[in-house]
Amino acid sequence: MSEKTGMGRREFLKSTAGLGGFVYLSANEKKPEESADAKPNMTYRVLGKTGIRLPVITMGVMNTDNPNLPRAALDAGMVHLDTAQGYQRGTNEAMIGEILKGRPRDSFVISTKASLPKDQNTGMYSGDATEEAYTKKIDTSLKSLGLDFIEIYHHHGTWTKEATLHEPILMALEKAKKAGKIRFIGVSTHRNEPEVIKAATDSKIYDVVLTAYNFRQKHSADVKSAIAQAAGAGLGVVAMKTIGGNVRGAYASQQLDISAAIKWALQDPNVHTVITGFTTFDQMNLDLSIMKDLALSKAEEEHLRKATLLSGLYCQGCGGCVGQCAKQLPIPELMRAYMYLHGYRNLGAAQDLLLSLKLPAGLCDDCSSCPVKCVNQWKVSDRILDVVRLREVPADLIA
Ligand code: SF4
Ligand code: SF4
Repeated sequence: MSEKTGMGRREFLKSTAGLGGFVYLSANEKKPEESADAKPNMTYRVLGKTGIRLPVITMGVMNTDNPNLPRAALDAGMVHLDTAQGYQRGTNEAMIGEILKGRPRDSFVISTKASLPKDQNTGMYSGDATEEAYTKKIDTSLKSLGLDFIEIYHHHGTWTKEATLHEPILMALEKAKKAGKIRFIGVSTHRNEPEVIKAATDSKIYDVVLTAYNFRQKHSADVKSAIAQAAGAGLGVVAMKTIGGNVRGAYASQQLDISAAIKWALQDPNVHTVITGFTTFDQMNLDLSIMKDLALSKAEEEHLRKATLLSGLYCQGCGGCVGQCAKQLPIPELMRAYMYLHGYRNLGAAQDLLLSLKLPAGLCDDCSSCPVKCVNQWKVSDRILDVVRLREVPADLIA
């Protein structure tokens, strides 16, 4: 029995096997929004064969260290919180664990994620990426969250078929599922998404895919097609980065209609829920209000069409720049750090990502010219020089 949630693994499995708790339905449920416990003004979809019924808006807790925000999200009926072991310098899971104390175990759904070090250019794991190392990650998440089990555990941030199917990690996940530590196995991907989604679908091991999917993606048709195959095979599909790296709130220099961008992803019926990374109560209320009516007006469509013409902060993850840099820098990852800094205003996440890349000391400042061509027409060396300044800032000034 979990002291913090009042329900143990066995009780939980029992509760979901019968009539179901608040969030679980049979996979063939057609109209979950008509369930008696559905909140008015919310739209629900079923997360594939997991049978979990979720509001179509999920809170991504990555960018906030304010526990009152996820608390308010749960109180408002949002149900699903998405975190990761690395968020907020490794403290995000523990913050969520605190707010879950005393809440009925079948009133919320938690997804979290972890990875192991891999080569940032090839995306491949080394021999250090062992089953034992990944099992430790899962156990650490359970401890930090104060839970006996986690609904969805994502193998985090892969962009190749090989890494997605890395056997030691899959073994760790399958054993954790069998032991009841996790309910479902997921994979998250920020780039080369169609390949990862297809590998996950074909593996017959993954239950859920968490993918970048937005109106800015030049390859959104390929992502859409991969998602359709995944959903057709019964996988749950969660979308992220739906506002395409845009800035929310006062810092925004390019005003984007956030509702329109989120609704764009939800026009796809194969997307079961969307992670939104709100950081204020006003933003939360806006995201909640989207669920009243998901229809995308002609004016909103036109707004998004124009927004795609701006280069913005979203790295397509297309890999077009890979191999062009004289120093073999992992440019897509550096562009993601730049987006964390200037888009999310999450300096800690940007610094953590930079430090994980183990970059050489001298970067773009000692190249006489830069041969790298980005499909977004970005001058990547300027962005790199800007963001790597964070390496010099003491971590305690950023947290
Ligand atoms: S300027 Fe920077 S990005 Fe361009 S080749 Fe040199 S190190 Fe690579
Ligand atoms: S070419 Fe540009 S958009 Fe594509 S991966 Fe490289 S930095 Fe990202």
